Amino acid sequence: MNLTSRQYLTTPIYYASGSPHLGHAYTTFVADCYKRYYQACGYEVLLTSGTDEHGQKIERTSAKNNESTESFIQKRSDEFSRLWIDLGIELDAFQRTSSPEHKSLVVEFWKRLQQKGDIYKGHYEGLYCVECEQYFTEGDQCPVHRKPLEHYSEESYFFRLSAYQQKLIDHIEKHPDFIVPSTRRNEVLSFLKSSGLHDLSISRTSTRWGIQVPDDSRHVIYVWIDALAAYLSALGPLDGKEIEEYWPNTTHFIGKDILIFHAVYWPALLWSAGLDLPRQLVVNGWLTVEGRKISKSDPETIIDPVSLTEITGCDGLKYYFLKAVKLGQDLDFRKDHLIELLNADLANNFGNLFSRFIKLFIKHFPDGIDLDTQILSTANQHILTAVSAKRAAFIRALEKYELSIAARIFIDTAALLNASFQQREPWKIANREELAEYLWTVHQCLETLTLLGYCFIPGIIENARGGLNLGNPPVFKEPLGDVNGSAAKKSGVKVRGIESLFPRL
Ligand SMILES: [Zn+2]
Repeated sequence: MNLTSRQYLTTPIYYASGSPHLGHAYTTFVADCYKRYYQACGYEVLLTSGTDEHGQKIERTSAKNNESTESFIQKRSDEFSRLWIDLGIELDAFQRTSSPEHKSLVVEFWKRLQQKGDIYKGHYEGLYCVECEQYFTEGDQCPVHRKPLEHYSEESYFFRLSAYQQKLIDHIEKHPDFIVPSTRRNEVLSFLKSSGLHDLSISRTSTRWGIQVPDDSRHVIYVWIDALAAYLSALGPLDGKEIEEYWPNTTHFIGKDILIFHAVYWPALLWSAGLDLPRQLVVNGWLTVEGRKISKSDPETIIDPVSLTEITGCDGLKYYFLKAVKLGQDLDFRKDHLIELLNADLANNFGNLFSRFIKLFIKHFPDGIDLDTQILSTANQHILTAVSAKRAAFIRALEKYELSIAARIFIDTAALLNASFQQREPWKIANREELAEYLWTVHQCLETLTLLGYCFIPGIIENARGGLNLGNPPVFKEPLGDVNGSAAKKSGVKVRGIESLFPRL
């Protein structure tokens, strides 16, 4: 990756028509993982989430609940913002599309499209899915929601999307990493190449619940433009310093259901407004629960993520998703699998490793170890080399968005150290120098291990590093675990007693 010193990461601006569920949590975990990774690499990182609070569906849902639209969206928005706190996710901005600063940015954005000559007034007649807030050209039911499409006929403003077709194809072809994984990139390219792009209807007269079109109060701005612009308004005004500094280094983490909005409409709108495109779209798959699609009509699929963290902790739940899903592919969430995976990886493997190491260390070297020798034995060098290789492979996987592979490398590294314990049986080493050198070596390796685990299980890692007498949060730039050289010259190491890092579930 060729990056400047700043990173701007976003989750979707979640649609506030219902309460958050596991699918929302999953995408946000991915974004949080990369926030921590970039921070550990020394970048200045901003992570934004928020709620999309306009549109006909919200107006209808609140009316159905006999609630004012304002109080309905306030509750939904509070649920989302509280969820991220409860899940241990540190957002830098939570943007609500009902906020005044967002509204004024959207109006400004609209005016830019107008100045460019990309907006014209016309008439739309067609089939509409209110759930998607999208027109469809064929079929009588929505392919996503399996609900009958509604016939709409209304005056509408249009955006000249068709003018950007070739530019979009060129951009995606020239930037192979613009959309990852590549299956999604190919999907967008074939969509763009297979048919002529229609101009996009970007205003509605069928709802009042939205941001008014400048100088034409009968129309409200299409909810998708409104929502996408929240990525910008979370940074500040359009001509502000933050947008200039952060926007070109933007990564949008999204689900595949909103791919076309982000990969086709959004870039064209940005170009029209005279702005750069985000650097990358990272697209994850569907989540199903025990084999079933998450749906309000199937209450068993609506699992409150916080109720799960009461069993697993925030880190446990996050680790499960990042390890169990190959990014981009669908995941079927099964509770027995969750428990099984966490017990195997975090309790038996990672947690045990730390507790046996720290017990042994404290027993023999309560005051710490100062290594006299600069030359390690070959056996100890081998362990450092092996862990160093794991660290390099881990970074490669993470940079390619292979999160499940990165998580596996992390846990394989713990397994490798457990195996070294079994083989060397340090509790039988009678020579004090030899024992000191071995425990010193393992301490170096555990330091590297905490670095690998940090983006997945930050809370647990903080405790683990406390036990190793190391500072928090970890930093990727230090030459950790390097063979001899700099690592062997490090000063003495110490440990402190800790509680179990991850109790068996
Ligand atoms: Zn739909």
